[in-house]
Amino acid sequence: AAKHAGRNCIRYFTKSLHDSAQNRLTLINDMRVAVAQKQFELYFQPIVDLGTGRVVKAEALIRWHHPERGMISPADFIPLAEESGLIVEIGDWVFREAATWAKRWNDLFEGGIQVSVNTSPSQFQSDAFKVPEWLAYLQSLDLHEKYLSIEITEGLLLNASQQVTDKLLRFRDAGIQVAIDDFGVGYSALSYLKRFDIDYLKIDQSFIRNLGTEENDLALSEAIVIMAHKLGLQVIAEGVETETQCRLLLDIGCDCGQGYLFSRPLPAEAFETFLGGAGKAGFK
Ligand code: C2E
Ligand code: MG
Ligand code: MG
Ligand code: MG
Repeated sequence: AAKHAGRNCIRYFTKSLHDSAQNRLTLINDMRVAVAQKQFELYFQPIVDLGTGRVVKAEALIRWHHPERGMISPADFIPLAEESGLIVEIGDWVFREAATWAKRWNDLFEGGIQVSVNTSPSQFQSDAFKVPEWLAYLQSLDLHEKYLSIEITEGLLLNASQQVTDKLLRFRDAGIQVAIDDFGVGYSALSYLKRFDIDYLKIDQSFIRNLGTEENDLALSEAIVIMAHKLGLQVIAEGVETETQCRLLLDIGCDCGQGYLFSRPLPAEAFETFLGGAGKAGFK
């Protein structure tokens, strides 16, 4: 108890001076034990086929239940995990957990559900990140590779090293689909789309937010869909919150949508209930 009080005191008195540096160190240290102590949890957000209204995929999104600070958003700890190198271990956990749930839903639901896992460039750039271990894990579950996909960012493809390229191609050769996350706000190095044989583009939510009012956003979204389809890629719109956005996306031929309109990210059990109910019956 004394230690606890002491820590609180230090935090209080140094807040204005060192808050961010102190915070970062503390969080990095806390993260080291978080995997072992099972403080992470995956939430799952449905991805809906806009044409049929059915849930066809789910994105796995990590949550951290910090013993003292409560729930910490990935936006606040993933960057620190990347800096400290812990992202490789955390990413391995995310993959195994996502695959385990994908296996269960594949057994439970007709047609199964493809679960997509976010990855960080620093994972791909690390020697400790082993694609064969991920693939072996799927085999040990007896889960077909098509039920897993990975999300990468545009930046990873820009000046990708041989090591990065090899890892990406290994996933591809194994039949794991690849999506570009937050498409449109990064480098948009379009030539890489074909070279790496990407499967999906996820239009960044900043384009979707004002779809009903900003003509330019609608024009850009439509241009992305047309280009993607010509290249044989599918398009997922992120951050779909309103019926209007949904209808406009359907009008411009966007394949899938993800966002609060359909569902917020849910804990696995709640996602499963969702799938068994309205999710499978469709949204139309
Ligand atoms: P992301 O991959 O682009 O994930 C989409 C984010 O948008 C999620 O935030 C999701 O909760 C949020 N979102 C979904 N629908 C809506 C909507 O209709 N409106 C709005 N305003 N937001 C919506 P979240 O879960 O906080 O994750 C933030 C970011 O953290 C993710 O962005 C991803 O870049 C990263 N992240 C999450 N989980 C992992 C992980 O396991 N590994 C890695 N490397 N990064 C992760
Ligand atoms: Mg993502
Ligand atoms: Mg995104
Ligand atoms: Mg392809």
